[in-house]
Amino acid sequence: MSGGTDRRCRAVFFDRDGVVNRSPGAGYVLAPDQFHLNDGIAEAVRFLNERSVLAIVVTSQKGVGKGLMSDDDLAAIHRRMESELAEKGAAFDAIYAYTGTPRCPHRAKPDPEMILTAAERFSIDLRLSWMIGDADRDIAMGRAAGLAGTIRLRGEKPIATPADHTLESPLEILDFLRRIL
Ligand SMILES: [Mg+2]
Repeated sequence: MSGGTDRRCRAVFFDRDGVVNRSPGAGYVLAPDQFHLNDGIAEAVRFLNERSVLAIVVTSQKGVGKGLMSDDDLAAIHRRMESELAEKGAAFDAIYAYTGTPRCPHRAKPDPEMILTAAERFSIDLRLSWMIGDADRDIAMGRAAGLAGTIRLRGEKPIATPADHTLESPLEILDFLRRIL
């Protein structure tokens, strides 16, 4: 990832709750034992790893800002996520979390700041990159960042912002990525 003459990379940005892991509903995942990896995610991330396409989590975790969990709790949840993926030979390249605390360097979705920050760090070509999310704010963030396209995973969330593509289950992500990348 060094050198100014390298080709810019592609990335797939993943919302976390409701995409990577089972949705906690109206609440939050507050501890590692409440984190349940969705079937099909490890296979999709491993496919990206093998293709040298970056796999990056962009998540809102305002439970930190509300005092329901600490930054350390959130880090422990992400360690659980990473170890479950590692058991299946997959790894995210980075995790960006908006926590809603005064010390959080990130901005809330649908502001595209987390995607733009990742793009700068990894030299990502956003026009060749994609966003997968289950909420309108994910789709709006992907559009605001100028991505190639947005993919909605249909879940519990109401839909007002149309995505470019809609999938019914995380199990469909791998085949979809094979078609578009
Ligand atoms: Mg979500």
